[in-house]
Amino acid sequence: MTDLHYPFSTPPEPGDWLPVADGVYWLRMSLPMALDHINLYVLDDEDGWWIIDTGMGLDSTQEAWERLFADKMSAKPVKGIIVTHMHPDHVGQAGWLCDKWRAPLYMSFGEYYNARAFSTMTRDTLGWTTRQYYHQAGLTTEYLDQMRAKFRGFGSIVEPVPMAYNRLREGDVLHIGGREWQVMIGSGHSPEHVCLFNARDNLLFSGDQIIPRITSNISVMAVEPNANPLQDWFDSLARFQRDLPAETLVFPAHNTPFTGVQARLQYLVDHHEDHLQAVEEACLTPRKAVEMLPVLFSREIDSSQMSLALGEAVAHLNYLVTAGRLVRELDEQGVNVYTVVDESVRDRQGRAHSKDPAPMEV
Ligand SMILES: [Zn+2]
Repeated sequence: MTDLHYPFSTPPEPGDWLPVADGVYWLRMSLPMALDHINLYVLDDEDGWWIIDTGMGLDSTQEAWERLFADKMSAKPVKGIIVTHMHPDHVGQAGWLCDKWRAPLYMSFGEYYNARAFSTMTRDTLGWTTRQYYHQAGLTTEYLDQMRAKFRGFGSIVEPVPMAYNRLREGDVLHIGGREWQVMIGSGHSPEHVCLFNARDNLLFSGDQIIPRITSNISVMAVEPNANPLQDWFDSLARFQRDLPAETLVFPAHNTPFTGVQARLQYLVDHHEDHLQAVEEACLTPRKAVEMLPVLFSREIDSSQMSLALGEAVAHLNYLVTAGRLVRELDEQGVNVYTVVDESVRDRQGRAHSKDPAPMEV
């Protein structure tokens, strides 16, 4: 399998762009987190530009867009805004861009309505179901109060989501700049993530579905405590392994464009299989979700990372429960306790498993 290769060594500065294929431009905007950037893309169409992902709802993002509109993009209007998925660094400026250009928004159904719903969530709308989810995962009441006090909500980093959109579905084709872009839907990182593939030139906009160096966060959230996003993630990886040519040039939302997609997809499968085995072995002794954090992450998790880290732990636990490899029971305190079904995993114990340093924000 071909190793990963990065054909563009230096990313563009915010407010600038870099051509990465005929009629395809790579932009980069800042993020105020450990992961300090997002890649956005602009497609050249005859009578206007198409934007793929929009950046976080920050003044600095709008300033970078304004510099592009005044310079590189000054010749034509923006004619369409495509958002791969609902996360704030992707959908954050969709409302501002759509209003500014009176341009249509393109998203999948699941991502659009999740973005609408999450953007109305505030500290005051967190109710007993959220509290119950975290309590069942093993967090104390004091810890929950701390998390709640710090919660700022999705709406604080997302411009109001447009009130209308065009729905993208699996298999839809967008005709842009002489190319056909086929919609490929992935899931697991977000509910109905849009990727765009051009089969003639083997180009893929992968969003957060396939990133070369970061393993995307796969989380169960309080809104759906029994979700099994890791199964969705494995299903999507298998689908992309089947359908993407080895020579595909991938334009991801983080890190840099790359080739070697099949090697990356296999790494992601192996990475999560390995984490599943580690969790299963840890549950030879009955365990709570919060006790899985040192099994999956090498760094201490602070309260700002807790919901992502715990979400990832519960994703692995829910997968194993659904697969019949763990049993989940509520203890006397109302906390979920997980126990391995097949005791013979004890024979695997002692084998090293990989850990991520900390949960990724994407
Ligand atoms: Zn994301």
